[in-house]
Amino acid sequence: MTAAPDPSTDTPPADPAAEGAGHPTLGRVVRTLDELYAPSTAEEWDAVGLVAGDPDAPVRKVLLAVDPVEEVADEALAWGADLLVTHHPLFLRPVHSVAATTFKGSLVHRLIRGGCALYVAHTNADAAQRGVADALADALDLLHRVPLVPHPAPSPHEAARTGTGRVGRLAEPTTLRAFAQRVAQVLPPTVQGVRVAGDLDARVESVAVVGGSGDSLFDAVRASGADVYLTSDLRHHPVSELRERARLDGGEAGTPFLVDVPHYASEWPWLRYAAEDLVRVLARSGAAVETRVSTLVTDPWTARFPSAPADPAADAGPPRDTAQA
Ligand SMILES: [Zn+2]
Repeated sequence: MTAAPDPSTDTPPADPAAEGAGHPTLGRVVRTLDELYAPSTAEEWDAVGLVAGDPDAPVRKVLLAVDPVEEVADEALAWGADLLVTHHPLFLRPVHSVAATTFKGSLVHRLIRGGCALYVAHTNADAAQRGVADALADALDLLHRVPLVPHPAPSPHEAARTGTGRVGRLAEPTTLRAFAQRVAQVLPPTVQGVRVAGDLDARVESVAVVGGSGDSLFDAVRASGADVYLTSDLRHHPVSELRERARLDGGEAGTPFLVDVPHYASEWPWLRYAAEDLVRVLARSGAAVETRVSTLVTDPWTARFPSAPADPAADAGPPRDTAQA
């Protein structure tokens, strides 16, 4: 449904000097988000920042979600959000039209009509402190962690604390099986669940994580010496080749093992940090917003059928391995 926006949403604040108290303007919220997730740290190909919205409009309610999809827009409008913050860009490539004849244009129209702005924090949120990678590492209680691919350190005396992914250690060693079960518990439920490549009884202690698609970082994972790598969107050939190589180079243990979760699930834990940090930083100047983290599952996969059990009588299809897992 489309909730009628609060009529005062259309009214700019009467006195810009009073911006500090009460509800902030969108412009102030954008400055705050840009402080938390510096746009200059986004990848060159990325498209982050304010997508739609009037900087002078007041912001009372902020909805945070991974994906700018129709159902999320429905949720934002039904709740009366003045701002939707998403991790993924609605527009990653330049467009020449936002006519409502395309699904992206239609979404922009609906948000603007409902008085809801749209802001994106993508690879800048991945890399930041308390960003996507830190939130995923925290969900697994990884200790002594450092960026998997660090950004340059702020000074020669300081260690880099931002960058792509994180690598750290579990409080105590566990099995790959128990680790994967833990991942399944702490991330939001999805149809896919958690996939594993490796010996379930093997010991794991050091862990690398990358929220979102992480198969381009296998070299960094190998160099880090991590026992297991948690990421998303892993495909047949990269996984097959990494596992073959691990058996040859990774010693008897055959590390790193792989744990694959849906892209959405690996990035979702960050939304809570973003909500908390936005409220905290705005509060320093006396500004207040109400936040909500969307719990809609925006993983696009909607069903999963386990393979049929082996039927010894059947003579169609390739032979199945009937060994018990
Ligand atoms: Zn992503």
